Amino acid sequence: MDTSENESSHYYSYSHYLKQTFGGKTYKVVVSSGLTCPTRDGTISKEACAFCDLRGSSSYFGKKGRGADIGEQIRKRLPAIRERFGAEHFLAYFQSYTNTYSEVSYLREIYEAALAEPGVAGLCVGTRPDCLPDEVIDLLEELGQRAYISLELGVQSFDDKTLEWLTRGHDAQCSLNALERLKKRAPHVHTCVHLMFGNPTEPAAVARDAALLLNGTGVRGVKLHQLMVLEHTELARRWKEEGAFRVANLDDYGQLVVEFLEHLSPEIYVERLCATATHKEECIAPEWSRDRWTPHNRLRELLSAKNVRQGSRL
Ligand code: SF4
Repeated sequence: MDTSENESSHYYSYSHYLKQTFGGKTYKVVVSSGLTCPTRDGTISKEACAFCDLRGSSSYFGKKGRGADIGEQIRKRLPAIRERFGAEHFLAYFQSYTNTYSEVSYLREIYEAALAEPGVAGLCVGTRPDCLPDEVIDLLEELGQRAYISLELGVQSFDDKTLEWLTRGHDAQCSLNALERLKKRAPHVHTCVHLMFGNPTEPAAVARDAALLLNGTGVRGVKLHQLMVLEHTELARRWKEEGAFRVANLDDYGQLVVEFLEHLSPEIYVERLCATATHKEECIAPEWSRDRWTPHNRLRELLSAKNVRQGSRL
């Protein structure tokens, strides 16, 4: 890792990675693919993953169903984002739901439509590990040879008990297989793994073990979030009908982040340390997820107090 200009001395920050990759201010523009998930359409279940709300884990979700005009969505949102954030480069972010859950011809159509928009330097594609057949990986690699392609892979946990509790519909081996195939077939694709900590089911060493597993997979980045109990989810139903379960307080979550960073290869960027509930009135627990800055500041204090260095315990 080249640490010059890295905004955090504790870990390889996403902003530093973007600067190294694009050389200027880069912003993700959320677009809707119109696709769904196997955990929503009845293929695995109709109930969605236990933590996921109607928005499909996104701050924005556009028109439902296929046929959404990708170019139009980008053209509508880009000028305001350019003005507000002074961004020079844009990444079309297929965030909500499972954006590889379709036949390859439709995926090619929507990805190409996004890449054809002036100012769009690449794609970020959010998906699940069980929706990555070889032909989809090959399409991503083909595009990755001429544009920036990031695959945001919702792994969530490498602990099978936790995956079951989250009703993800896949196990840890499925994620490891997907990561192995991506490494082999798609060297130009920048894979960023999403992980969730603070589940009542997870073992004490969950963060350390996840970092050690990731180090060998060739992933470029990781994005962390805490377990949140949001309204209109299966977790909310359990919380209300079966009683509250253990969620991480901020200090316990911070300790997991410390252990994770200290065991993570310094070559892997860290996009986020924790999440903020987009609709805070819909966040049942933990309470600290409703606020953006207190958790971020507290985590930074903790990293400084412990003088944390990414990869220091490898
Ligand atoms: S977490 Fe992801 S895969 Fe699960 S229901 Fe939500 S959007 Fe779909």
